[in-house]
Amino acid sequence: MKLLQEKIRSEGLVLSDSVLKVDSFLNHQIDPALMMKIGEEFVERFKGEKITKILTIESSGIAIAMATAVILNVPIVFARKRKSVTFDEELYWAKVYSYTKQESNDIIVSKRFLSAEDQVLILDDFLANGEAALGLANIIQQAQAKVVGIGIVIEKSFQPGAQKLIAAGYRVESLARIQSLENGQVHFL
Ligand code: 5GP
Repeated sequence: MKLLQEKIRSEGLVLSDSVLKVDSFLNHQIDPALMMKIGEEFVERFKGEKITKILTIESSGIAIAMATAVILNVPIVFARKRKSVTFDEELYWAKVYSYTKQESNDIIVSKRFLSAEDQVLILDDFLANGEAALGLANIIQQAQAKVVGIGIVIEKSFQPGAQKLIAAGYRVESLARIQSLENGQVHFL
């Protein structure tokens, strides 16, 4: 997606060899026109798949999910982050290690919003080690629903997430794939 690559090149801040900051259009301020283009691109990539719901994770995934869901005309469920979960039979939950915060969080989804009939598209902003996406996929499995695929806005391809998800049998569609962030520069695959 050329437009996204240009935006990353012009506004992305390389914080280290492994972390990219894109808070001017994705993670703090949001560029709505770009979000709509991202939504259109995900819809195009997953064309032909039956999708009944989008699952993402708060908070940055919500705008991406919204742009996609409005075209597909399906509901969005966003997993909430909670520090710890005591057993609650009304919730699906999974443990996710946060790449940026370097701590584990439980993510939770109410059992009311996922069922065995659902065919779910997972969407997220970044893919690093795959923890968030695997946690979301785990929750979908607990609901005995189907993971249609995983859509990612920015994949850091030099980290193992994409390979892990593909090895686990998931279809991964990433709109921008970064080969390296070395020397303060973004290099796309
Ligand atoms: P993973 O779970 O794949 O290890 O990491 C993905 C999650 O960590 C994303 O939901 C995102 O919030 C965060 N993340 C990972 N790498 C980056 C990065 O380079 N920049 C930003 N802004 N967030 C990241």
